[in-house]
Amino acid sequence: MKVRKWWKRMVILDLLLAGLLFLRTCQGYEESLQASVQYDQENREQTQDSVPTDQSQSGGKLVALTFDDGPDPRYTEKLLDGLKERGVKATFFVTGANASKYPEIVKRIQEEGHLIGNHTYHHIQLTAANGEQFRNEIVSTNEVIREITGEDTEYIRPPYGSWNKKYEEELNMFPVLWSIDPRDWCSDDADCIVRNTVSKIKEGDIILMHDQYKSSVIAALEIVDRLQKDGYVFVTVEELLLD
Ligand SMILES: [Zn+2]
Repeated sequence: MKVRKWWKRMVILDLLLAGLLFLRTCQGYEESLQASVQYDQENREQTQDSVPTDQSQSGGKLVALTFDDGPDPRYTEKLLDGLKERGVKATFFVTGANASKYPEIVKRIQEEGHLIGNHTYHHIQLTAANGEQFRNEIVSTNEVIREITGEDTEYIRPPYGSWNKKYEEELNMFPVLWSIDPRDWCSDDADCIVRNTVSKIKEGDIILMHDQYKSSVIAALEIVDRLQKDGYVFVTVEELLLD
């Protein structure tokens, strides 16, 4: 009897000790978890401090202006002047044909920090029947861009938005479509183009425009002026997509 009682007490004592140890372990685990979360947060804050992004510098909402079909000898440089004055970076999807005709403008686009993308050589639309030609147009335009800038481009705006995912891996190209189309190509009314854009704009939008119309250049700079006042920051599509 005595032995059984003693044995019972030992079991109860053991259980109590085990319980206490368990509680201490849990507490220790929570403390170390809290410490690691805090460490992560501090680390993140330090990283953010050391690598400021455009957004953190300005607290702005990022949007991207894109210009297709150029470069154009009449208007692209006027647009570049206006963008420079306003500290804006944009993206230019050039055709191979125009880039090879006006390489000095392509070079200036690059030198002023804008992003250059591919818009096929002759502005062709991908169809079920012309896959091989479409592919060759992308490759030849990439070659023209590389010859002028010394750099490869990974971005393509497929004319009319027609695309096949197989080219992404095959050619290492990333398609960039758009979220706002003010249809600047069918109106010479700059005010109308501005209204069509600013009335719809939201953070993260990609605006589709064309730099071979005077009205588009006037409208684009007016869009920048209005949206900058509202806290928008204009970046290249690469910066927008990586954000
Ligand atoms: Zn186009």
